Amino acid sequence: MLEKKHIAHFESLVGKENVYSDKAHLIAYSYDATRTRFEPEAVVFPRDETDVSAILRYCNEHNIVITPRGAGSGFTGGALPTNGGITLGMEKHMNKILEIDMENMVAVVQPGVINMELQKAVEEVGLMYPPDPASEAYSTLGGNVSENAGGMRAAKYGITKDYVMALRAVRANGDIIRAGKRTIKDVAGYNTAGILIASEGTLAVLTEITLKLIPKPKFTKGYMGIFPSVDDAMNAVFKSLASGANPVAMEFMDALVVQALKEKLGIELPADAGALLIGDVDGNVPQEVAFELETLEASFKENNAQEFIVAHDDAHRNELWYARRNASPSITIFGSKKLNEDISVPRSMLPDALKNIYAIGEKYGFRVPCFGHAGDGNIHVNVMVDGSSEEELHKGHEAIEEIFQMVVEMGGTLSGEHGIGTSKAPFMNIAFNEMEIALFKDIKKAFDPNNILNPGKMGLPN
Ligand SMILES: Cc1cc2nc3c(=O)[nH]c(=O)nc-3n(C[C@H](O)[C@H](O)[C@H](O)COP(=O)(O)OP(=O)(O)OC[C@H]3O[C@@H](n4cnc5c(N)ncnc54)[C@H](O)[C@@H]3O)c2cc1C
Repeated sequence: MLEKKHIAHFESLVGKENVYSDKAHLIAYSYDATRTRFEPEAVVFPRDETDVSAILRYCNEHNIVITPRGAGSGFTGGALPTNGGITLGMEKHMNKILEIDMENMVAVVQPGVINMELQKAVEEVGLMYPPDPASEAYSTLGGNVSENAGGMRAAKYGITKDYVMALRAVRANGDIIRAGKRTIKDVAGYNTAGILIASEGTLAVLTEITLKLIPKPKFTKGYMGIFPSVDDAMNAVFKSLASGANPVAMEFMDALVVQALKEKLGIELPADAGALLIGDVDGNVPQEVAFELETLEASFKENNAQEFIVAHDDAHRNELWYARRNASPSITIFGSKKLNEDISVPRSMLPDALKNIYAIGEKYGFRVPCFGHAGDGNIHVNVMVDGSSEEELHKGHEAIEEIFQMVVEMGGTLSGEHGIGTSKAPFMNIAFNEMEIALFKDIKKAFDPNNILNPGKMGLPN
């Protein structure tokens, strides 16, 4: 229980209006997208980096646990205060775009800036910030960096880590550190920014982020490929990329998702459609876009595509994307509870990985619709559990464990974008050996010797 004197101290640091300790607010800050609830003992909103430093220094001296929080949209429990203590809300004050540097094509932001706000601001001046998680309308850039978020454009443009040039952050003892520079090249010292990316608030609190921007491409077109089987679609993915196509997005939906789209949403697709690939291509001249589409069409047809559709305008492109955007809600026809994982494998392994996933689903008696970012080898695997009996859920988790084992054996990993948090912590020993986990613990100790920053996440000690 957080003593009253601590709450009074936080109020004296940041002002009464920036500390919540009433029940209603504690409930409001007790969740994330895992739908699991853990109440913090107080929510504190720093106004700037100096506040963050003072709060952390005090917590370190008094052994008070801190959970940094952006928008709370994480899928793996990173922002849940599982060990009580305070939640550090970064979204209320530290939400400013500080600079858009046109000459160096760089943006400097505070961590509470919403992803979409940055995208809109830079597009107004002809630039683009490519990482666009489906949560772009509400997730924060601090949360994106801390989870190394991916998005629909990752196939061509990469993920958050590819855009982080520099960070400012506060260590558990209150020390303010700088990591990285506003330079294209920087080989001086350890890559501390690289360690902080995807560290899920366990090492330091990010207070400023410098992000690379690129020129916004002038032309974009949408496409859809319809395939008779998952195997054909998966082969088309890695063969078209290997043959030089460079689509912005290449999103996959399997036969169960196709069935759900038809039954739940009434989307019209051929009766024998067994898988879909939907995406965009872009370029600065129409010929570049035409070349991409021609390359994709040839590869898709070589891999038995029944149809290759090119959107004739933006409205048509939105229609094509409607299927992908609604893949997740539509599959609830297969079960009331969705155990959703986001495995990642080398692209050429996709056909075999999918076959193995379906075989594991069958063994445990679950349907496992799969969809996702096939262009970057990252697939959302949904073990659909019907009913909420403990026995069924336990079986579902066993199926997931087996899927993770298989994925790691194929050279893949537990998560392509959602992170580890608490949900995947029990599986860390599948992906990492004892020595590797010991190194993680040593890194954690170097940043946070008293273990006050988001303890218990990523399989690290409570
Ligand atoms: C509908 C939906 C769609 C989604 N689609 C995608 C997707 O396409 N791609 C994808 O990658 N993810 C996706 N996500 C997951 C989620 O949106 C991302 O993980 C996002 O990056 C989390 O941002 P947030 O601001 O909500 O962070 P939070 O959930 O609040 O926090 C996430 C982690 O970051 C830490 N953190 C937050 N701010 C800081 C800071 N300033 N300093 C240090 N640590 C910090 C927290 O402690 C926590 O561990 C989706 C989620 C939803 C609900």
